[in-house]
Amino acid sequence: MDPDKRPDGERPPLPWSPVPSVALADALRQQGTPPWLGELRAIVGAAHVLTAAPDLWVYCRDRSPYAVFNVRNARVPTMLPSAVACPGSAGELTEVIRLTRRLHIPVIPFGAGSGVLGGTLPLQRELVIDLKRLNRIVDIDETDCTVTVEAGMNGAQFEAALNARGLTAGHLPQSLHMSTVGGWAACRGAGQTSTRYGKIEDMVLGLEVVLPDGRLLRVRPVARRSTGPSIKDLFVGSEGAFGVITQVTLRAWRLPEARHGVVLGFPTLQDGFDALRKIMQAELRPAVVRLYDAGESAHRSHGRAPFDTCPFLAVLEFCGSRRLAALERELALEICEAHGAVETDDAIYREWQSHRFQSFSVPWQARDYYVDTIEVTAPWSVLPALHAAATAAIASLGGGIDFGVHWSHVYSEGACQYMTIRLPPMPEDRALPLLRRAWDLLQGTSLAHGCSISHHHGVGMFRNPWLAAELEIGLELLQALKDHVDPESLFVAGKLGLLRRDAEGCDA
Ligand SMILES: Cc1cc2nc3c(=O)[nH]c(=O)nc-3n(C[C@H](O)[C@H](O)[C@H](O)COP(=O)(O)OP(=O)(O)OC[C@H]3O[C@@H](n4cnc5c(N)ncnc54)[C@H](O)[C@@H]3O)c2cc1C
Repeated sequence: MDPDKRPDGERPPLPWSPVPSVALADALRQQGTPPWLGELRAIVGAAHVLTAAPDLWVYCRDRSPYAVFNVRNARVPTMLPSAVACPGSAGELTEVIRLTRRLHIPVIPFGAGSGVLGGTLPLQRELVIDLKRLNRIVDIDETDCTVTVEAGMNGAQFEAALNARGLTAGHLPQSLHMSTVGGWAACRGAGQTSTRYGKIEDMVLGLEVVLPDGRLLRVRPVARRSTGPSIKDLFVGSEGAFGVITQVTLRAWRLPEARHGVVLGFPTLQDGFDALRKIMQAELRPAVVRLYDAGESAHRSHGRAPFDTCPFLAVLEFCGSRRLAALERELALEICEAHGAVETDDAIYREWQSHRFQSFSVPWQARDYYVDTIEVTAPWSVLPALHAAATAAIASLGGGIDFGVHWSHVYSEGACQYMTIRLPPMPEDRALPLLRRAWDLLQGTSLAHGCSISHHHGVGMFRNPWLAAELEIGLELLQALKDHVDPESLFVAGKLGLLRRDAEGCDA
């Protein structure tokens, strides 16, 4: 592998997208009719092959701010896909993939398009494979507490079906209603109750994947195995680059008997960090843990008491059996009080809970702000310095950027630092370079502090420039795997920090 061809932190910043955005009318003019539509229709049925302009417009974007910004300006962020196929079964999907292999058609698996890193944006007129018709619960085993589900099932419908049986998957991303179970696994996501129930990789017990050559890879669901490196984990977080996840078996949990929300104000941010760290190191497991910096606290506490003297807002939730949840709450509060925290009524918790599946960015976007988020993982010992460095870095950019930080997804060793960048209304030719500069600074600061460049949003295409610095030699191993399973780079090419190869295996 030629290291000069691998984007890394030393090179000049890459453009946000290797393909420039284009006006919708121009994109439609460039569109042709793929010669293989007939074969595709024969597999999935004519009604399940979409080629009309409004459909292609829907599938040319994800929820990345770059895509949202372009769509807002009636532009196609990269290009339109060649077509959209919606297979209705794993068998049909396999046939579609065999067709793409035979005819060298590039593809993008598509869950619900809620990704925020450009993973589903076409870069070579891919055929988009929409998985939402694979939406059945295959089995719920109430003895083993497991659930097997097809990958395209909507997250909220999946959780509701489990709730109806007295169960929960415990995976509740903010995007619950606009994402799929397969998308959660593909992006290695984390939900709002991750501190108690774990992240998606802790939940997935087994899966089925159609590989780019059309073979079905099956990882049988068992609690654990010791048979070499975990094959399952090669696919959790693979973002479609190694094949299409068709089915997932997850752990399920009994719905909690009791749930307590707690709202606290801390006198200093350091007190907040120390209290959360000690809660985790005392082996308590709140379901929800959220601590906000000064600006984010002010946005949410609206000057209510006690935030005038204890301005750093924290929201916790304890759940489980009635006695255990009450005890965990009591022990956690003792730790918080020792750090000067003052508890207030649970109005802010209830407000958070009632809006938990809506983006906090919407009111800003309605005022034409351009909102982006960057989530990284840091050790407790580094968080204060990382927060200070990130805040200073954004301040150095000027431009009236509103920058806010909160910490959630908490561990004994550290936490996810979730940073929100809100650019005031400005022309695209100023906004995009400024945002790109903010990404350079924040990802560079994370790496310089020994942190990860992502906690749960994944890589897509917008994190390509930093992946070599994050994974080091590990990226060569991923590339070797990619070259083996998909030698022609037909699957989600140009994403996940991986090189694109042409048919002869040369870099393209
Ligand atoms: C407002 C908002 C809030 C969000 N909150 C959270 C959050 O709390 N936690 C979190 O983790 N994420 C969050 N996200 C990000 C996003 O919702 C997740 O990454 C989600 O898991 C993506 O699922 P999807 O089904 O929409 O996937 P898509 O966006 O359709 O796809 C994302 C990537 O995965 C690939 N892919 C999708 N399905 C499959 C499959 N079955 N097999 C192989 N590859 C596949 C695609 O090719 C693409 O590369 C949020 C996004 C938004 C817009």
